[in-house]
Amino acid sequence: MSKRHTMLLLYSIIVSVILGVAAGWYMGEDALMFSWMGTLFLNALKMVVVPLIVAAIISGVASLGDVRKLGKPGGITFLYFIVTTLIAAMIGMSLAEIAVPGGDFHLTPSDVSIAANAGTTSIGEILLGLISPNIVASAANMDLLQLIIFSIIFGAALTVTGEKGKAVSSFFESLNGIMMVIVGWIMYLSPFGIFALVATPIAEAGGKEGVIETFAAVGGYLVIVLSGLVIHSVLLFIVLIFIAGRGITYLRDVLPALLTALSTSSSSATVPLSIECATDHGLPKSPVRFVIPLGSTINMNGTAVYQSVATIFLAQVYGIDMVFSDYVLIALTTSLASIGSAGIPQGGHIMTLMLFSIVGIPAEGFGLILGVDWFLDRMRTTLNVWGDLVGAAVLARFTK
Ligand code: ASP
Repeated sequence: MSKRHTMLLLYSIIVSVILGVAAGWYMGEDALMFSWMGTLFLNALKMVVVPLIVAAIISGVASLGDVRKLGKPGGITFLYFIVTTLIAAMIGMSLAEIAVPGGDFHLTPSDVSIAANAGTTSIGEILLGLISPNIVASAANMDLLQLIIFSIIFGAALTVTGEKGKAVSSFFESLNGIMMVIVGWIMYLSPFGIFALVATPIAEAGGKEGVIETFAAVGGYLVIVLSGLVIHSVLLFIVLIFIAGRGITYLRDVLPALLTALSTSSSSATVPLSIECATDHGLPKSPVRFVIPLGSTINMNGTAVYQSVATIFLAQVYGIDMVFSDYVLIALTTSLASIGSAGIPQGGHIMTLMLFSIVGIPAEGFGLILGVDWFLDRMRTTLNVWGDLVGAAVLARFTK
């Protein structure tokens, strides 16, 4: 999508949020007649979930090069990615559990069976559920965790198959590109979808009174996500000082990259500037060139904070009781979801929907948080990029 189109879409989304609020406010229950538009938009997004996840993960892992040769730098980088993403997810979940942003605001899921399934899985079942006995059935049933695990294994195998695997690698590379084009087209539907998805919960919550309640709940969600992003950024800064031995000057030198992330909402678009800022600061070229491009596609701390807060928030709104295994599932899935999320504006959407379906949250709940997502996307992308920049400094320290 060109910059002009992205800006146009952003303005249309803001207008559709305002119109959605107005429709819910003035029309009350009558605004439910628009709900099909929201469902259409969500169905279009769900349509690309399976091919996109498979293609994004396989091509992402395949681009690593021979996995047997990743060695110490690869090990340190992956450990850093996994640990920081898990911490991000835990911060998000804890804040949402403590502050309960969805506490007084309740909606009824239209598909009761989804919510009824939640909260019944034990840790043993989660682990068993990771490996599919029939991957075709997993794709058909949208057992997304199984698909993710299979795609990681498949991508890793591709990296060791040499010449023979080349054709398959480029097939998934192109499939990924094609799916991203389709997602771009679906985003043109988003102003209509978001209008309906904003109007519907307000109408369901009772028109005028619903507006205030909805605003309070979504406002609470927004504040919690922002707090999580700030806490995690500070934590990474501390990591930077103690582990990588760099301080405020690093933050000052990479500021142009962080501001670019803030203004483009895209970690991928920020890669060239991040590399330049980090090397200008004095980090050696090789860790920078390894961690930053890789991190822009598979390390998304900000996205993990947002996804975990969103999941707990909506579970509260739909009255879904979370048990310990659900938290494990969220932490695991947000970490895996980072691998599949593209580093482009709102690239985490498909993975967020996937997370909801795994935990048992109705997809229509997505509408509640979409209205503020254009803003949160900028904030979380900045943290995503900060996470990669800190990762490069950590790797530089250990591979001196
Ligand atoms: N916009 C984010 C990025 O580029 C991805 C997302 O969370 O939607 O890093």
